[in-house]
Amino acid sequence: MRKKIVAGNWKMNKTFSEAEDLLFDIADILKENRPSGVEVLVCPPAIYLELAADIAQENEFSCGAQNLSEHESGAYTGEISASMIASTGAKYVIIGHSERRTYFNEKDTLLAVKISQALKHDLIPVYCCGEVLAEREANSHFEIVGEQIKKALFHLTPDEFAKIVVAYEPVWAIGTGRTASPAQAQEMHAFIRKVLAEKFGVEAANDTSILYGGSCNAANARELFANEDVDGGLIGGASLKAEDFIKIASSF
Ligand code: PEP
Repeated sequence: MRKKIVAGNWKMNKTFSEAEDLLFDIADILKENRPSGVEVLVCPPAIYLELAADIAQENEFSCGAQNLSEHESGAYTGEISASMIASTGAKYVIIGHSERRTYFNEKDTLLAVKISQALKHDLIPVYCCGEVLAEREANSHFEIVGEQIKKALFHLTPDEFAKIVVAYEPVWAIGTGRTASPAQAQEMHAFIRKVLAEKFGVEAANDTSILYGGSCNAANARELFANEDVDGGLIGGASLKAEDFIKIASSF
């Protein structure tokens, strides 16, 4: 179902007590000033998921993981399975973040398996796609993002696809302070919706939440979220401060 979502990707940040403080700060701000019609989603490091899921549930926000194993269970030292994530009470999982693609060599074919694994355990995948700077400069960004969508999502049944959230994150904008312009974001989001419509139909595509990520902050969120096809944001750096994060979630 298409809805407005603002998701915080904490990446590999925060000790236990810092994570606890941030979660309670988010909860406190939401008690005073809850943005209406927006799902607030927090994706902390996996070690804090149970804590986050408990606080999230008590305070009407959501919690998700940043990654999952493509395997069901077994001898995969250091990995975390979909069923483990689901058993903490987390509802979402980010899949295919550009940092996973770059530093852990995750390819679209692997991401397709991870998507299916998440769905099998009732986790909602937030599937990240986006081009690197050289691809945008070579004007191949539509082709690149189109392929990322097709390779990781086109094996899904219509019922499975209905659960997917997509995040467009131009890699050149992640953590760089260089944001896509509202026009660039809208153009790509509309393109993604068109690609999805060709496979799953216009209605299903129009029902899909497509988030923007890449140096989105409290100062620029409003003009990004004002676009027809931008349904919210996946926020990195600016999600590490509760006030900034909830300001972004209030920018519709
Ligand atoms: C991200 O990591 O998904 C992200 C968008 O990071 P930042 O907001 O820091 O650019």
